[in-house]
Amino acid sequence: MSETLVIAVDGPAGTGKSTVSRGLARTLGARYLDTGAMYRVVTLAAMRAGVDLHDTPAIESVTKDVPLSVGDDPDKDEAYLDAEDVSAEIRGEAVTKAVSAVSAVPAVRARLVGLQRELASGPGSIVVEGRDIGTVVLPDADLKVFLTASPEVRARRRNEQNIAAGLGDDYEAVLADVQRRDHLDSNRPVSPLRAADDAVVIDTSDMSAAEVVEQLLALVRERTGATP
Ligand code: C5P
Repeated sequence: MSETLVIAVDGPAGTGKSTVSRGLARTLGARYLDTGAMYRVVTLAAMRAGVDLHDTPAIESVTKDVPLSVGDDPDKDEAYLDAEDVSAEIRGEAVTKAVSAVSAVPAVRARLVGLQRELASGPGSIVVEGRDIGTVVLPDADLKVFLTASPEVRARRRNEQNIAAGLGDDYEAVLADVQRRDHLDSNRPVSPLRAADDAVVIDTSDMSAAEVVEQLLALVRERTGATP
């Protein structure tokens, strides 16, 4: 596909966003941006600085100059805090528990949204995944997708990922965390999680990641007029 495309993929945790976004980027030869990883790196920096996660001014001051960087290769998982590779640590339980509080801070969002727009404007096509990409970060994206799935299906998927990663097996705890994060992400005053009016909503509850990627490729072909 020769046309340069910006594709926004939003939705709550456990809908298959990362797998699908990476798969789509790989197939299109596009770059890939995981905006959740950026919120996670900032959260890790706030935790290391020992700030109270309810203290908004403290979070703002600690995170305003955080030297973070993330990669754009769909086949790699690259996240750096200064020169330190923190890609594994930001996926751990501690950061996962704290990230919704930090990402609700307006100054954190303003800074990261600016960085995300800068990264998205780089060369070639890009698939950007997050919670507010189609609504706030890239409202002019060529294709906006909002993935959903029932909380139970999402918790089951997350729990299976945890088991595979050696992080234990606790479906009930994962379900509680999924519901807690949904609530926080959907009810925050700044950029709450919601589908853009012009997003294509796909319920992935009964679909494999490969099936979702196929559906998205069909949408891309439709938008670009490319033949299959
Ligand atoms: O996608 P992931 O689960 O890694 O995102 C972690 C958290 O980062 C989300 O629960 C949400 O609080 C926050 N986030 C956000 N806006 C985005 C991406 C992630 O608020 N665009």
